[in-house]
Amino acid sequence: MPSICDNLNNIRNQLKPYNATLVAVSKTKPAALIQEAAQCDQIDFGENYVQELTEKHGQLSDKLKWHMIGHLQSNKVKYIAPFVSLIHTVDSLKLLAEINKQGLKHNRVIDVLIQIYIASEDTKSGLSYNEADLLFASVELKSFQNVRIKGLMGMATFTENEKQIASEFRSLKIYFDNLKSSFPKFDTLSMGMSSDYKVALNEGSNMVRIGSLIFGNR
Ligand SMILES: *Cc1c(COP(=O)(O)O)cnc(C)c1O
Repeated sequence: MPSICDNLNNIRNQLKPYNATLVAVSKTKPAALIQEAAQCDQIDFGENYVQELTEKHGQLSDKLKWHMIGHLQSNKVKYIAPFVSLIHTVDSLKLLAEINKQGLKHNRVIDVLIQIYIASEDTKSGLSYNEADLLFASVELKSFQNVRIKGLMGMATFTENEKQIASEFRSLKIYFDNLKSSFPKFDTLSMGMSSDYKVALNEGSNMVRIGSLIFGNR
């Protein structure tokens, strides 16, 4: 059976031509396995739940970078604000304002992505393109000094239909490129997980979030 390190190296080789960052999604996996990945030079880890994220951050090396990739409630931002590296799942101005407030409190600028709803399913969260337009146009945004929007995140429909997945990712890439003219600091497009990262890379992703292909099924 391939080791976690074998899995990581295999994926890294595939990411190389795309210059994409690998976020190892460690949700439900014990700290010992994260440690094993860290020993294989994996720095970026993604978690879905605030409590699990803060626990693992406390248990593991300070050198690791923690990504929040699950739905985030405003009242929980305070727990991750001191250390979180990137929040992928910002879906409201209210949440952005809270992250800014907590960033100020901890004297840091917190990097975030705006999550866009690109799937044809009811289960996935994020803003529609129209809602995102409103958020990016809001005057309040410019007053946030302690939060930095780095780009966008999106999850495609869970389907075997690769053409559909590709088209959902492609639309997000086009939206991302358009926004870049107004927000030149945008540099991160988080798209792709174990089942669809190859499609995502071909459609312009530069950050993939991969769990089961590294750590095994959950
Ligand atoms: C769990 C999760 C992943 C990783 O899923 P895998 O199929 O295990 O690669 C990626 N992104 C988000 C938002 C997730 O919740």
